[in-house]
Amino acid sequence: MNDPSLVLVVEDNEANQLLARAVLEREGYRVEIAGAADEALEKLGNQLPSLILMDIQLPGQDGLSLTRQLKASPATANIPIIALTAHAMIGDREATIVNGCAGYIAKPIDTSTFGDQIREILAPASIE
Ligand code: MN
Repeated sequence: MNDPSLVLVVEDNEANQLLARAVLEREGYRVEIAGAADEALEKLGNQLPSLILMDIQLPGQDGLSLTRQLKASPATANIPIIALTAHAMIGDREATIVNGCAGYIAKPIDTSTFGDQIREILAPASIE
């Protein structure tokens, strides 16, 4: 069962982990952090979040590959995934959507708009 207040942040950069946690906790979420794909899968085996923020560039298995894997698994297929990436190239947004992400937030994280960006991406599918 998904925990509606829980967000899983899959991100290997410590500064971004701290920023994401600070903003999400300010938004009222509880936050779990995973620094790599295997750690994310371990946490998802214990508890399912209502949202996953997914860094694309991870050590080992990358974020798009992990997203495809989660979208192919019945337990996690319905959890919205928002890509976090420093890539600023045209086509990156499309790549995240094609691989199953609900949306895309470009890094560096802007703490003044991060919460709004997440809400905007989730709004069409929101059940709240
Ligand atoms: Mn990274």
